[in-house]
Amino acid sequence: MTTYEELFENNRRWVASMMAKDKHFFERLSGQQSPEFLYIGCSDSRIPANEIMGLEPGEVFVHRNIANVVASVDLNAMSVVNYAVAQLHVKHIIVCGHYNCGGVKAAMQPKDMGILNPWLRNIRDVYRLHQAELDGIQDEHKRYDRLAELNVQEQCINVIKMAVVQKSYMKNRYPVVHGWVFDLETGHIKDLAIDFDAVLKNIQKIYDLTGEE
Ligand SMILES: [Zn+2]
Repeated sequence: MTTYEELFENNRRWVASMMAKDKHFFERLSGQQSPEFLYIGCSDSRIPANEIMGLEPGEVFVHRNIANVVASVDLNAMSVVNYAVAQLHVKHIIVCGHYNCGGVKAAMQPKDMGILNPWLRNIRDVYRLHQAELDGIQDEHKRYDRLAELNVQEQCINVIKMAVVQKSYMKNRYPVVHGWVFDLETGHIKDLAIDFDAVLKNIQKIYDLTGEE
């Protein structure tokens, strides 16, 4: 177990190791950031965004919250996506959930969770949308894991509903939105192979915000 005091020692060691590999590392890092990827994931401590993708500092813009939710009234998530698309011009947006997610499990409990109620409501809404399929899964853990996948799918749709994403894609053909699930038991990422063009076309019947005929 690492103590609080050891964090500073760890930091000094990290700086030394980065400098040993590249003595101009921090000069470059302190310049402009231009990440290709925006990663939206769960706050769970077991899923460090950079590490699972093998990315260095500066290579991925990161937003994390409980159960990787993208809600249209969440000023934080909306700001992150807007900034990443309009200013950083990221080419890919990844929504990454994970199996055995505490937030997803909590959303399936018939309990008052206090301040978490409105947050978990986003996931209960995903359950309602896919209730027939989920109720058909007998094994409780498999049902949680399927909801984790469906939650990723719905949060990807929420990203694609955003004006900044639709407008940028129309003009530049990016960003493309991807849905992933991380498996804590194996360390592997599963790509849910969301068909971005098909989802965009489908949601634009109702959520078209581009102002084009
Ligand atoms: Zn989680």
